[in-house]
Amino acid sequence: MFVFTRLPIKIVSCHLLCFIFLMSVPITAQAQWYQHSFEVMGTQAHVEFWLESETSEQVAIKEVPLAARNIIDSVVAEMQRIDQGMSPYKADSELSKLNRLAAMRPVVISPELFDLLKNAEKIAELSDGAFDITYASVGYQYDYRNKQKPSQAQIEQALPAINYRGIVLDQSNNSVRFNHPKIKIDLGGIAKGYAVKNCLALLKAAGVKHGLISAGGDTGLLGDRRGRPWLVGIKHPRAEQKNAVHLPLANEAISTSGDYERYFVEDGTRYHHIINPKTGKSAWQVVSVSVIGQDPTYVDALSTTIFVLGLERGMALINRLDDYEAIIIDNQQTLHFSQGLQQN
Ligand code: AMP
Ligand code: MG
Repeated sequence: MFVFTRLPIKIVSCHLLCFIFLMSVPITAQAQWYQHSFEVMGTQAHVEFWLESETSEQVAIKEVPLAARNIIDSVVAEMQRIDQGMSPYKADSELSKLNRLAAMRPVVISPELFDLLKNAEKIAELSDGAFDITYASVGYQYDYRNKQKPSQAQIEQALPAINYRGIVLDQSNNSVRFNHPKIKIDLGGIAKGYAVKNCLALLKAAGVKHGLISAGGDTGLLGDRRGRPWLVGIKHPRAEQKNAVHLPLANEAISTSGDYERYFVEDGTRYHHIINPKTGKSAWQVVSVSVIGQDPTYVDALSTTIFVLGLERGMALINRLDDYEAIIIDNQQTLHFSQGLQQN
């Protein structure tokens, strides 16, 4: 179901009026915001953009112009395509195939998946393995909906398989091999950002100058909100309907990782979906991390990374990277800003 914020702006030039008069076919330039929300990748996605388009008034003005509908359809299709290829829950996804076969033999994969694995490897190296897509070797034993978690013995058995260096990438033929029989990988910490990046490119290619794409906690912004910045809210980690911070942003990406997204509490301990690869357990030092920067893929992976690293090591890493900033909420619910966001 499409939802629209209609701003009734009609620009009718003098020349156009003459033309309309002569032809008796009223053509106006119509400009407005379009929005659409949908479910994909196990989360809520959203697209919003400003579009100026010529349209005949004979086409009911309330209908979505074809150009806007095409843009929305292309964004939905792109998110679904990425989900189909990279979901660990779909048995026929490229990722599932890799998880089934790569411990036995090298598997040739698409250049797209190969590139994403390369990017995941870069962030793993940068963070000394805090970001590690092989976390899934233990991660798949957690079921947050059904409050299931692995025992200490099961975690210890799985830990040797958690090591990004065990993913052997061969650029010569785009193949991948796992060098441990129990390695499983999961792209939940990077794929949504990648999907946002691709969808922003679709908006741009369609001539959009002001737009927003989000998938769960990952948001990409094209331009500003027509002369004003976009106001992006960072959720309050312990009050579902509230925001902890609002940030004015333009032409940037922001991703938030929070321990409130997928979790259950047992005996006072919160078991959630961001796993410290060194322990096989949920990271606990901070409760929310937002990273701001240009590239939605890296911003997504970095928010997960900083969450695992915790306040001191996380801030140290972000402050080392010129093009990225972070807002961290620690487990005492105190806000911390990286150097570039602090007022002098
Ligand atoms: P995000 O949605 O960006 O906050 O990332 C959380 C998701 O990243 C989880 O749902 C997992 O799919 C994945 N993940 C969890 N722990 C790690 C980790 N240490 N390294 C890489 N990915 C992870
Ligand atoms: Mg992330």
